[in-house]
Amino acid sequence: MASATIIPHVGTLQMIRKITDDGVLCEQEVWDLAEYLNENPDARVNWPGSELFPLLHQVFEDGILSQDEMAQMAGVLSDIEHQCARADIPKAIEKAPVSLDAIKVEDYSLPRIEKTAEIPCKPSGEVYSVNLRTHSCSCPAWFGNRKKFPVGSLNRACVHVVDAYKRELTTNPSAPLPKLLAHVVEDLSFRGRGVDVNADWKLLKVDTIPHLVSIGTQEWSTVYAPGKGAKFDRYAYHRDEDRWAYGAEPSRHRHVEEFLRAKKRRA
Ligand SMILES: [Zn+2]
Repeated sequence: MASATIIPHVGTLQMIRKITDDGVLCEQEVWDLAEYLNENPDARVNWPGSELFPLLHQVFEDGILSQDEMAQMAGVLSDIEHQCARADIPKAIEKAPVSLDAIKVEDYSLPRIEKTAEIPCKPSGEVYSVNLRTHSCSCPAWFGNRKKFPVGSLNRACVHVVDAYKRELTTNPSAPLPKLLAHVVEDLSFRGRGVDVNADWKLLKVDTIPHLVSIGTQEWSTVYAPGKGAKFDRYAYHRDEDRWAYGAEPSRHRHVEEFLRAKKRRA
């Protein structure tokens, strides 16, 4: 961003946030971004699309995404993220500590549903059996990494368990999943991922409103929470630098920040 007066293109920022929250950029995500810019002329000519498009255009033209281009993309995205966060600095200054009394911290427990599902694995064509009562899956990754967590733990949700819940959402609307879980499932299934198995997931109730927060090995915490207008969204908070990715924060962000800071002090 050349100057602070440039207004970022909101759709592009939402798209970037959607694909880059976890700090790991994969090839599919770059293709999704290229496709988004290709289909939205408006997004291409406005920042940050104007910065991304020249690079992505080349990728799209020759249909090849080299390691070099991946690294370049990651660099440009990281710059954009920092520029967005800096634009929000004045807002950060007015912060005073909030009380932790309004927050209740619980372990999140997956709902137990009397259902099994056969979930095909997209790249391999292998089919895995998921049980939504025991939150188990027959895939090797589940046995390797997730079986050790107790029933109900989010960490048991590999990509196939997520897909099985997603199927419940679409085929069984009469028995809706809890709103927070429905959002997490939609989000993960959109990105073709399971729940981050290395993170500790906590359910924060801020004034009784549920927030799901990860504390993992990475310095970014994922936060599923209502934003402005009560719509659930996924946010990312950098615990060491005390900032929200792209300057986008949930409506009760100060409580989440205070909780994460308190965690850090205790660690
Ligand atoms: Zn699985």
